[in-house]
Amino acid sequence: MALQVYNTLTNKKEEVVPVTPGKITMYLCGPTVYDYFHIGNARPFIVYDIFRRYLKYRGYDVKFVMNVTDIDDKIITKAIKEAVPASEVAGKYTNAFFEDLEKLGVEPADEYPKATENINEIIALIERLIDKGLAYQIEGDVYYSVAKFSGYGKLSGKNIEELKSGARIEIDARKKNPLDFSLWKAAKPGEPAWDSPWGKGRPGWHIECSVMSMKYLGETIDIHAGGSDLVFPHHENEIAQSEGASGKPFVKYWMHNGFLNIEGEKMSKSLGNFFTARDIMKKYHASVIRMFFLQKHYKSPVSFSEDRILESQNALERIITAMQNIDIVLKDIDFEDNDDQKVVEQIAGLKSEFLKNMDDDFNTAGAMSNIFDLVKEANHILSKTSLLREDYITLKEIRAIIEEFDSFLGILSYKEEMHTSVSEDSLISILLDVREQLRKEKLWNLSDEIRDKLANLGVEIKDYPDKTIWMKKIKS
Ligand SMILES: [Zn+2]
Repeated sequence: MALQVYNTLTNKKEEVVPVTPGKITMYLCGPTVYDYFHIGNARPFIVYDIFRRYLKYRGYDVKFVMNVTDIDDKIITKAIKEAVPASEVAGKYTNAFFEDLEKLGVEPADEYPKATENINEIIALIERLIDKGLAYQIEGDVYYSVAKFSGYGKLSGKNIEELKSGARIEIDARKKNPLDFSLWKAAKPGEPAWDSPWGKGRPGWHIECSVMSMKYLGETIDIHAGGSDLVFPHHENEIAQSEGASGKPFVKYWMHNGFLNIEGEKMSKSLGNFFTARDIMKKYHASVIRMFFLQKHYKSPVSFSEDRILESQNALERIITAMQNIDIVLKDIDFEDNDDQKVVEQIAGLKSEFLKNMDDDFNTAGAMSNIFDLVKEANHILSKTSLLREDYITLKEIRAIIEEFDSFLGILSYKEEMHTSVSEDSLISILLDVREQLRKEKLWNLSDEIRDKLANLGVEIKDYPDKTIWMKKIKS
């Protein structure tokens, strides 16, 4: 099956056919840097990181761009409140943004263009729109004339006339149409401002994404992604700007992720019910947060609570425990000339189920259940009293597949958290040696006591006919 994604523009799943065969251009709306981002904001950063890496894994040459909005009303408001320059607020939270992304295991984008570093390009695009009669200026402000763009509303499915009648009484009576949106804002006293043909001012938010996307990825890009709250007006406006200027389709596939809710409400800064990703990472490993999002389809809303995060942590621990136990069992096994066609085919079947799910609009929830099928199979083998050659090969294959998938899932680094220390490792080995001696002397009660006491500590002893090993007890 070819890779399919749900396209908001057409309201259906479509096969991904890139503009240029073998290449995928991808744009994600980035943060407005006026605060630490919350766990709801982290969702698009994580899920599109996984999708981007999956596309690479599938052999595409992916170019990925995310903008940084470093000039905006929210930044200015915060700067006034803290009596510091806006650039200081933006600088501080831009750094924090990159730190948090790194901690979340997100691969850096190919470009992170900033609004303030692209003012000339923004002005040039606004001039193009004015030349085409799609924008007008009034007293230093420039607006996009929504009525002049026939495709307005095609992404959100909104109708201009309905929107107009629903629009609030417009404060700015100078606009031709209440739906017209700002491309350039005339400077107010004390605000950061740049020279432009319309006087000093600063760019609007929507124009930034049109400029960055076209500058780095071309006039028609493959995938443009963001949260579902951006469909209208932000992405609708991006289409009006980009297609209005270029006359070409702006984006082939629009992807939108669902919200993160907390107690039934959308997590947002304005509602004040948010946890920063930074705070959550003080308590939970980034892999656990990735796991939490992986277990849901990206389009579904997801409810956040500590219980749910703990469930994800448990699920992740089941995977890691199986991987660690496989490592222990396979430690001294020589795999030379070990190729069992039947086993390889059986595991290849499980692998293709996983890939089918990922190709089906990145169904990570389904794909993770395929991982748990592999873990279940591994645990079944690990619980046997003696292992056959094909068991060892199956374990080896399972380990290899999970490691391969981790190139885009990014969850196995959690094993560092679950690593037993060297001293712990050697103490258990000493106990096993003592127990071995006791068994040789037929002191079964004592040897069983050691086994049972270790079991209480979560260490399981396995007596195979040819050797004894220990592994971590599997969590149910
Ligand atoms: Zn955007």
